[in-house]
Amino acid sequence: MEFPTTLIELQGRFPDEESCWRYLKEVRWPEGFRCPHCGGAEHSYLEARRLFQCTGCRRQTSVIAGTVLHRTRTPLRKWFLAMFFFARHKQSISALQLKEDLGLGSYGTAWTMLHKLRAALGRRPHQLLKGDVEADETFVGGPRSGGKRGRGAPNKTMVLVLVERREQSAGAAVLQTIPDGSFDSLGPELRGAIEGENTTIWSDDWSGYLPLARHGVKHRSQIQRTPERAAKILPWAHVVASNLKAWLLGTFRGVSPKHLQRYLDEFTYRFSRRGIADQLFFYVARRAVQGEPLTYHRLTAESAG
Ligand SMILES: [Zn+2]
Repeated sequence: MEFPTTLIELQGRFPDEESCWRYLKEVRWPEGFRCPHCGGAEHSYLEARRLFQCTGCRRQTSVIAGTVLHRTRTPLRKWFLAMFFFARHKQSISALQLKEDLGLGSYGTAWTMLHKLRAALGRRPHQLLKGDVEADETFVGGPRSGGKRGRGAPNKTMVLVLVERREQSAGAAVLQTIPDGSFDSLGPELRGAIEGENTTIWSDDWSGYLPLARHGVKHRSQIQRTPERAAKILPWAHVVASNLKAWLLGTFRGVSPKHLQRYLDEFTYRFSRRGIADQLFFYVARRAVQGEPLTYHRLTAESAG
């Protein structure tokens, strides 16, 4: 499938609701309709309401049913523009900017659209890291100093940074919020993010990583001593952490801790696909129609704890 790379191309390819709808249908069901309830392929089509009716279970499905676009009242064309801007701008787009660019009724609508797109990206099947993987923690938000690794710090969120170390560059990355730097917190996240056999974890000498070897993870630690040396022994983890902070500050001017993980998912997604940025529109569109529904209510309530 061709990817629109300019706004003019996008407008030419998707001039109306019908063309957007066809594209989503193609992306969601490239082999033809499949009932999301029973998996059946036989169906009839109710043209006036653009609904598929499953012959097996009789249930009706729209192309956006059960996706992050579920029950949206925003026209698909606006969603396509949002996906385009989201994918196109290397640094992402703020809700305020999107509201103005699309002429949306409220900031809340723009905010929700962007979070739904982020959520769609975050729900992808996880790409496991392998090879040499640097592990480190960083703090996001809150005042600059006073972070404590073992217990976390008030107003700050600890983020576990995992990034593949290639010869001259970084590979894929995973960023995950954790309550503190203990092994109980970082161990399961770290182990879930890597291919066990083919991975060696590189860290500094923080005690939270020491039990890794006992859990069968190949692990090398180096003594940190000074902050300057920290950047030397884990160069890519430091690059990722500082890029992340610059991105959060520059694009969003601060992010609430309860929504931070979705921003991390967006950052990771962009970072891991930085070589194929021109295809992001397609990836975002595909994730949007393959994900599960996420209502505004769930968006704001789900991570309240
Ligand atoms: Zn069915």
